[in-house]
Amino acid sequence: MKLSLWPESIKARVTLSTLGVFLLSLWLLAFLTTRMLERDISRLVADAQSSAARQMALQIDRELQSRLEVLEHKALLIDSDLMAHPVALQNVLQHQPIPNSLFNVSVLVVNNDGIAIADTSNLPERIGINYRERVDAFAIALNEGHANVGNPLMGLSTGQPLIPLAVPIRDASGKVIGALGGAIDLSRPNFFDDLTARGYGGTGHYSIISKNGRIIVTSSNSALIMTALPAPGVNPVLDRAMLEDVGNTYRYTTVEGIDTLAVTRGTATTDWLVAVMTPVSEAFAPIDDMLRRMTLITLAVTLLVGIALWWVMQHQLQPMLTTVDTLGAKVRSAQPMQSLPMTGRKEVDSLIAAFNRLLGQLSAREEETQRFKTIADNAVYGEAIADLEGTLVYINRFLAEIHGYHPAELIGKNLSVFHATSQLEQLNNTLNQLSQNGYFSPCEVWHADRHGSEFPMLMSGVLIKDDQGCPQYMATSAVDITDRKAAEVALKQINDELEQFVYIVSHDLKSPLITINTFLGILQEDITDSNTEGITEDLDFIKQAAAKIEALLDALLRLSRIGRIDSAPQTQPVKKMVDECLKVLGGRLQQQQVEVVVGEMTDQWHGDLTHFGQLWQNLIENAIKYMGDQPRPRIEIGTEQRTEGQVFYVRDNGIGIAPAHHQRIFTMFAQLDQKSEGTGLGLALVKKIVESYQGRIWVESAGKGQGSCFWFTLPAAVDAPWVQDAEQGEG
Ligand code: ADP
Repeated sequence: MKLSLWPESIKARVTLSTLGVFLLSLWLLAFLTTRMLERDISRLVADAQSSAARQMALQIDRELQSRLEVLEHKALLIDSDLMAHPVALQNVLQHQPIPNSLFNVSVLVVNNDGIAIADTSNLPERIGINYRERVDAFAIALNEGHANVGNPLMGLSTGQPLIPLAVPIRDASGKVIGALGGAIDLSRPNFFDDLTARGYGGTGHYSIISKNGRIIVTSSNSALIMTALPAPGVNPVLDRAMLEDVGNTYRYTTVEGIDTLAVTRGTATTDWLVAVMTPVSEAFAPIDDMLRRMTLITLAVTLLVGIALWWVMQHQLQPMLTTVDTLGAKVRSAQPMQSLPMTGRKEVDSLIAAFNRLLGQLSAREEETQRFKTIADNAVYGEAIADLEGTLVYINRFLAEIHGYHPAELIGKNLSVFHATSQLEQLNNTLNQLSQNGYFSPCEVWHADRHGSEFPMLMSGVLIKDDQGCPQYMATSAVDITDRKAAEVALKQINDELEQFVYIVSHDLKSPLITINTFLGILQEDITDSNTEGITEDLDFIKQAAAKIEALLDALLRLSRIGRIDSAPQTQPVKKMVDECLKVLGGRLQQQQVEVVVGEMTDQWHGDLTHFGQLWQNLIENAIKYMGDQPRPRIEIGTEQRTEGQVFYVRDNGIGIAPAHHQRIFTMFAQLDQKSEGTGLGLALVKKIVESYQGRIWVESAGKGQGSCFWFTLPAAVDAPWVQDAEQGEG
């Protein structure tokens, strides 16, 4: 079975598709809204950051400027004399001190070589140190002669970050003779604290960056204070921000991996930049909130829309579902299909109308098919339909029953079920002819029933094709020709017998006629010679010959009547028939002193009593006739029960019959002794009577002088059901 996540129900499909489109639209809306909001919020955040950065830059400028001004003012008090007297200079510095709030470390004076000569902190270890090399602010003041704020550096004695400021000291001629500088220790309270005490916004912060030093001077994020920036080229966004210090917005990822929005602004006093940083997560937090809320609302709305849609679909599709249920129930009930009722829904009704039209056509075809099926089912010849592999899909009662089956047993079986293995080649030839020509002409095909009995059928076949002419099935018709074949055989036998009969009759009638003709000639001579004795003798011979012709004609007449119903069949005990026959032949039996022994006979025969009489009379008469010179003639009459049924016999101790003649004596005019009395038709008559009752007759004799025993069966007379009925009736 193929598994699919896509449901089969139209209702479910429409609901899912609509919800899919709905969700997609909402997602698209959320996506576009988010993009727009991000852009707007970015701009707002950037404006706020820019404004904050500008404020801070201005404040830093103010603070540094005021400190430089204080230093410059102080430098004016120092001349070349004072420079030449460091102690006096130290006094001046200490007695007119610069407030600690401006420079929280110390203020010191260096001479033209940059060597410290006075220090407000009065720390002796500073005096004598060359600051020109260590502090760029002093170097610039001494070399370039202007006030400046130097790059931040780590204090020599404090080990803490410092920001140095320095101004030049000039003599009366304006020549730089030294420099006055102060430092702000960032680890101690200072004016940056006010600026960077609080971060920016919730999680954002300020940083003040020295462009030249590529170092963060200070930051509201204390972890960043005095950290070096990456070398140029490492972070392009940072490099660009260092160049463009006019309030542009940058988005970058910090070393901690935080997606950040930043704005930088340059200061006028120094090369410093004020950077205001806001994590994107904070800046866009409202969007995230909005998205969360939107997702919840979307889910709730989707659920509601889904339920509503399902309900609407259920309501709208109900007529269709009801129709389908009705249809299913009708199909299951196997009753004749009737038109489906209309529902009042336009689309469903047009479907039902089309279906009802189809149903009409279908039932018309069904009726037609049923008519033909009824004819085929009840035909007195066979009809079968098989697919192209020979598998039976239809078979009528006649064809099934003639093979010993019920039609239902054969559906799904192969055509070869009707044939014995020896017949399959003939079957295959016939089927090949069918597939090549599209039909096969009527031909005799041998079949076998389920017990293996073979019988002939006359068959014809045709291929059933579809509208495109492609073969679909094989249809065959078959007629049982067993009787016809048997009749053909019987007819041939009769013709053969008739031919033989005409030949023998003409021959046997000829010999007494020749006798008559011959003695008529002699008679004529004897009359001419007046030979009275001769005339009497001649007339005797002529009389005997005429009697022979009469006997022959009588016997032939009797023979021809066998098989014809001369009188109504009757039932009579066999013993009675035998007794009557013995009574008729009583004179001869007595004359020849024949002893007759009749065994116990309880059977009754049903049939033509004349035939039964002729049967017994011929056999008993022959026994008397062919007794020979037997001194103790004896005839036994009786019956025996054998496997083939009841067998009757007439046994004599007469001249016997050589085995060579045991068959011949039953043919017409067969006489072993031409001089014997009789016609040679008696046993032929007996055989014909026996065979007309489906019996057989045969003789047993050891040979000449050994006596003979004639055996016969009469199944149709003895075993026939009417005999049983008659017996019961009599009983
Ligand atoms: P037929 O009129 O000659 O008796 P059947 O047809 O009755 O003709 O018998 C044919 C021949 O069979 C007889 O001619 C005789 O030779 C021989 N035959 C018949 N019955 C006996 C018998 N009981 N014993 C010996 N031969 C017999």
